[in-house]
Amino acid sequence: MSTEVLVLGGGPAGLAAGIALRQHGADVTVVDALTPAIDKACGEGLMPGALAALERLGVSMGAADGVPFRGIRFCDSRRSVEARFSAGVGMGVRRLRLHARLAERAEACGVKLQWNSHCQLLGPSRALVDGEELSFRYLVGADGQSSTVRRWAGMEACRKEDLRYGLRRHYRVEPWTDLVEVHWAEHGQAYVTPVAEDCVCVAFVGRDPQREAEEWLEEFPALAERVGAAPVASMQRGAVSATRILREVERGTVALVGDASGSVDAVTGEGMASCFLQAEALAKAIAERNLEAYSHAHQRIGRLPHRMAALLLLMDRFPALAARTLETFEERPEFFSDFLAVHIGLRGLSGFALQRGPQFCWSLLTTTAR
Ligand SMILES: Cc1cc2nc3c(=O)[nH]c(=O)nc-3n(C[C@H](O)[C@H](O)[C@H](O)COP(=O)(O)OP(=O)(O)OC[C@H]3O[C@@H](n4cnc5c(N)ncnc54)[C@H](O)[C@@H]3O)c2cc1C
Repeated sequence: MSTEVLVLGGGPAGLAAGIALRQHGADVTVVDALTPAIDKACGEGLMPGALAALERLGVSMGAADGVPFRGIRFCDSRRSVEARFSAGVGMGVRRLRLHARLAERAEACGVKLQWNSHCQLLGPSRALVDGEELSFRYLVGADGQSSTVRRWAGMEACRKEDLRYGLRRHYRVEPWTDLVEVHWAEHGQAYVTPVAEDCVCVAFVGRDPQREAEEWLEEFPALAERVGAAPVASMQRGAVSATRILREVERGTVALVGDASGSVDAVTGEGMASCFLQAEALAKAIAERNLEAYSHAHQRIGRLPHRMAALLLLMDRFPALAARTLETFEERPEFFSDFLAVHIGLRGLSGFALQRGPQFCWSLLTTTAR
């Protein structure tokens, strides 16, 4: 058996890579150890950029797939500030649904899918898949945070690594807003995404891997009031939320994509948008036989999410700073609107820093003084 590109891992990144490669005419096989639809701990919010990338991949999310959201609300026990996207909408989509839609599209466009399969890498162009030898020209590691391909190819070295832990739960309750809510507290954040007309997804993210959902809810009394008595609508799932920048994402004929290639903290909500953009860039680079171009594109794609993650993680590390930032945003909601526009790539970060930075710092300081 042979294939031009072997993709190990059929999560969002692997399936998106498979689809994008087919769009460039490549012969692709995606192998995953599990059977679809595959679930994973996730906040389940697709930002406008993720929806646009899905559209380009031929996956149009419609009303039956999830619930649109129109912006973001930041809140803590005393303050609340919100901003709407100035262009586009996001969508809350159950992870199982997203996976099923991607798998359906991959199959329709001719990706060879091998689910429930065991893959043993034998060399840079050979593997055993369920005991049968498969030869390939390119190997793509799309096998998530603890990537086997990354380890096998010796690409574990990081420029930056910061780990937190996420926990996801669904509550059977009617969404009370068309925004994604990010609740801030001393030990982490809870963010709430509407995913169905009678269901919200809550992701708790913090630095303690042992913390249970009930414990988390005690930190967020306003959220507990909304969901505390509601029936739990899914199995609790946990996952590492890593901010990770690798030294290299390709070597020879091996490339990494999605969380295998590094990731941004979950609180940014940008993980999947990055996966889809990387998948597109990787397919183009493979079609042009120029994997180095993928390295550059990967860096470009990650730059803004990593900068935003750094700002948000600063707020996470210093709760007093988070409180003051929220207070400043509450007093000057136009700052938060601009911040959101930067976050989704509609405004440049440096322009924002130049125009709003001095006023923002002044507001932050005077807020502190009060
Ligand atoms: C708590 C939390 C909340 C998040 N919230 C959001 C959000 O709201 N919005 C957003 O955009 N992003 C969010 N993210 C990030 C997002 O979930 C990830 O970026 C995304 O899942 C990465 O997809 P992936 O395909 O790279 O990896 P995965 O989804 O982990 O998929 C990897 C696949 O590889 C397979 N695999 C692994 N090892 C092997 C092997 N050896 N052989 C065969 N198959 C293998 C697995 O079975 C799996 O199917 C969140 C992350 C966390 C942790």
